[in-house]
Amino acid sequence: MLQTHSELHTHLMGMLSLEGILDILSKINYPGFPIDSDGNLLFDGKPNTPRTKKVTDKIRRGLIVPYGESIEYGDMEILYTNRSKLLADIANYYSNGNKDEEELLNEIYLIYLNHSLLELIDNKVTYVEISFSNKEKIAYMLKHLPRKITDKIDVKFLLCTNRIRSGKELEKDLEAIEETIAKDKAIGFDFMGKEEPFNNNENDSWKKKSNSINSFTRKLDLVIGVLHKYPKSTLRIHAGENIESKGNPLATLKMIDKVATQNNLVIPPPEIRLGHAIYFDDCKEYIELLRKYKCIIEINASSNMALSNITNPNQLSYNYYLNNNIPVVISTDGAGIYDTDVVQENYIAQNVAGDDSYIKLLDIDKKIVQKKGTK
Ligand SMILES: [Zn+2]
Repeated sequence: MLQTHSELHTHLMGMLSLEGILDILSKINYPGFPIDSDGNLLFDGKPNTPRTKKVTDKIRRGLIVPYGESIEYGDMEILYTNRSKLLADIANYYSNGNKDEEELLNEIYLIYLNHSLLELIDNKVTYVEISFSNKEKIAYMLKHLPRKITDKIDVKFLLCTNRIRSGKELEKDLEAIEETIAKDKAIGFDFMGKEEPFNNNENDSWKKKSNSINSFTRKLDLVIGVLHKYPKSTLRIHAGENIESKGNPLATLKMIDKVATQNNLVIPPPEIRLGHAIYFDDCKEYIELLRKYKCIIEINASSNMALSNITNPNQLSYNYYLNNNIPVVISTDGAGIYDTDVVQENYIAQNVAGDDSYIKLLDIDKKIVQKKGTK
């Protein structure tokens, strides 16, 4: 079957399937999941917490959203936390004071990434961009990935940060971000986290303020200033994921337009990608700005279903964008967490968008893989 070969929107901790996680645990002879008295995962770091090797329904639901089921955004974040705590638990358990725990944790992250990439290779993916926040771990993993993997798939990272992090904090980190990009440890940047409508009211709390148009424009200005120097770079912004944030995609594009105009920049680079963009202001200006900056829309159907942002994949705008000549890519938003994979997302896209549009999607994917990848 024809299918896409890129995975442009995934998050490191969400990549691996439950089977993949259990496979790692059996190979390293994991002593069992720590649990509370109700049988839920409990990574409290205490040596006497009871453990079980049985993969109960409660444990399964602590690591994935079973396909077809839904979950609240906050509970999805708990799944991410559980997965990283699981890796930390393994490092802690096996370090035993003998080996440097941090070094062991790096090795476990590498094993986790390896398994995730093998799953992508099985699904015929040859180019992946993975969102993750830890620069040191990214550098370690890239340095140690075996040739038998990197011969088959191009592995790139997007450094991510929560969208409401302050501009001041981002500025402090900018030099390290630039170094990471310059040394090819990351190809770009990802603004993520739970979306709220942009807020400009000066009387709002600090947290809200960091989600203001002014604050986000400053953050975009800082990041674009770095990425613009690198021809293959990516800037992804999660935008329009829920109905409340319907105004965000257009607002974000206007901010990018402001940054480009003020600094006299021709964008791309970076390649601008909007993650999700299910909800948006359907107007001429939106389409014009998407075209002006050659933006790409990433559609993550199963993630949108699981988080109840849509109730039916027919609500997704594959054809709205394609008919307006805006490129669309198919991605998973963390295949393992949402119990899906790239092949399944292809199947949904073909069904919802129809055969003619699906051919366009395949063509867009091919061009991106040719442009950014080496395989
Ligand atoms: Zn995402």
